[in-house]
Amino acid sequence: MTWRATVLTLFPAMFPGTLGLSLAGRALEQATWSLDVHDIRDAATDKHRTVDDTPFGGGAGMVMRPDIIDRALGAVDDGRPMIVLTPRGAPLKQSMIRDLAAGSGVVLLCGRYEGFDQRVIEARNLTELSIGDYVLSGGEPAAMVLLDACIRLLPGVMGAAASADEESFADHLLEYPHYTRPAEWQGRPVPETLLSGNHAAIAAWRRQQAEAITRTRRPDLWAAYQSSR
Ligand code: SAH
Repeated sequence: MTWRATVLTLFPAMFPGTLGLSLAGRALEQATWSLDVHDIRDAATDKHRTVDDTPFGGGAGMVMRPDIIDRALGAVDDGRPMIVLTPRGAPLKQSMIRDLAAGSGVVLLCGRYEGFDQRVIEARNLTELSIGDYVLSGGEPAAMVLLDACIRLLPGVMGAAASADEESFADHLLEYPHYTRPAEWQGRPVPETLLSGNHAAIAAWRRQQAEAITRTRRPDLWAAYQSSR
């Protein structure tokens, strides 16, 4: 069954963008997922195809109108989760990506300017998600980030790299370090355990490394890891 992504944007030409290449691009060709991109301007009703207006209360910038956005959403609403990308949203987490990838797809609303009139977010009960504590000029790169993370988890996309259970965030831990040939490079040897062929020792070493790196870099994840055990 094809996982369906619908994107509402003022810049449809930005898609599929990075999602048309490599893993996601191949999966798109193979119809593991599909992409419908809708121009929000198509939902406008005046001859200038206006989608925004000045903010009540004053201030800089423009706000995207609730009536236009509601019409654009109404045209694609079929029960899939409807997500608006916004710096005010809940921080996107791998656990949410796993849930979304396990469903039938998503509808993503990309903002521009100052964002959306609050009423349409409430009326449509949109899920607000952020990709991090910084401000982009538009929601499109954020939508691509979310889609990329979902697509790689779809059945068959990562192929033999059945590593989704082991990678960063799988159990609140960051991943252990990787090494490949040459076994010694610029005077730096590969950790000996990895050359031992002892699978139990290797697993223990990796877990210990993952714990150490998580403890020093991400106290927040470390706390979640400890309380999950
Ligand atoms: N005035 C807004 C920022 C608007 S940025 C504020 O201060 O919150 C314009 C658009 O870019 C937003 O509507 C949103 O769709 C997108 N965007 C910007 N930063 C983002 C982030 N960190 N995560 C997700 N979307 C983001």
